[in-house]
Amino acid sequence: MIFRRRHKNGADGLPDAAMEDLYDVMAFLSEQDLPATPINFELAFLRKNDPRSLAARAIDAILIGGDRITQAQANQIVSAYRQLGGGTDREKSEKEAAGHTRLRHQTLHLADLTGEAMSATGQFGRDLSEHLDEMDGGQSAQAVADSISAMIDLTGDTERRLSAAIEQIESLNTELAAAKNDAARDALTGLVNRRGLQVHLDALEPHGCTALAICDIDRFKNINDRHGHQVGDRVIQAVAESIATSCEPHIVARWGGEEFVVLMDGVALEDAASLIEAANRNLQGRSFRVRDTGEALSPVTFSAGVVMIDDGKAEDAITAADALLYQAKVEGRDRVLTVHPAALAA
Ligand code: GH3
Ligand code: MG
Ligand code: MG
Repeated sequence: MIFRRRHKNGADGLPDAAMEDLYDVMAFLSEQDLPATPINFELAFLRKNDPRSLAARAIDAILIGGDRITQAQANQIVSAYRQLGGGTDREKSEKEAAGHTRLRHQTLHLADLTGEAMSATGQFGRDLSEHLDEMDGGQSAQAVADSISAMIDLTGDTERRLSAAIEQIESLNTELAAAKNDAARDALTGLVNRRGLQVHLDALEPHGCTALAICDIDRFKNINDRHGHQVGDRVIQAVAESIATSCEPHIVARWGGEEFVVLMDGVALEDAASLIEAANRNLQGRSFRVRDTGEALSPVTFSAGVVMIDDGKAEDAITAADALLYQAKVEGRDRVLTVHPAALAA
């Protein structure tokens, strides 16, 4: 396929800038001998519109060796970009926290490798010009050949390591997806589920100092009814992330539908309540919109009951926290209760 740039005349009905982009993208695909498929368009647009992205640097690192991008490499780069660099900030932030650091490190590794490919070429340029100078002085041509073959080795090696790094990212993502299906983990939020939490509850010290909170999203059914379950799911993910971030490093579990349990080891009751309140405030500071329509959601809040676990008796603590949660709902929602008002009156 040969693609030639035409003079822009606006006859296609597209703005000139858009036509320019399209010509560049088509020219790139033509040069690379890649068919004009959606994934290849994405690759070409990435390279053009986000030249500092990891994907663009990975493309450059391959091209620098003088090779064309293969379809397999194009697929790998676009999929790595989508999983790591792509998506909105919210989509990224909603990704499972566990394993995130490993992925981030792997991304940095990939960035280093692409950077290495560039500097390998730079070194090649310097080596080559030195040898050319020597040749002018009557030196053997072997030195130039050696330099070229060293460069080819370097580039080839970097490319191999680059592909290995991309593959590793993919396998880490597969691992993460598998972890999401883990029996102890909730697939929607990536948090531990009830079964996962039970392991931590079973391990409680009899005389430890551990606070437990149950949080329940307020009027969540309205969100589902009004915007559909998919939007509801995203709200659950966002609430999970808000609580997990505010309460880090404590254990946050998805207890059921739109309910979460937080286990805070070594934290006194008031401090535990402050952490949960901070999570609720953080959540209310976020504005949610329906992706497809841009429609704004009403502020999302939750109610919570917080108690200390006496003598490691988790079941009693859950019952007590649940009672406080119920009371918080009765009192009007969007609040964190630590002591039942009846107990205060007594
Ligand atoms: P309240 O303030 O009293 O807690 O009211 P609410 O509407 O939040 O409570 P209710 O228990 O009536 O509704 C919870 C809803 O959560 C009902 C259920 O369909 C929905 N739900 C449970 N799990 C999921 C889920 O994984 N995704 C979505 N989208 N909805 C879920
Ligand atoms: Mg509920
Ligand atoms: Mg609710």
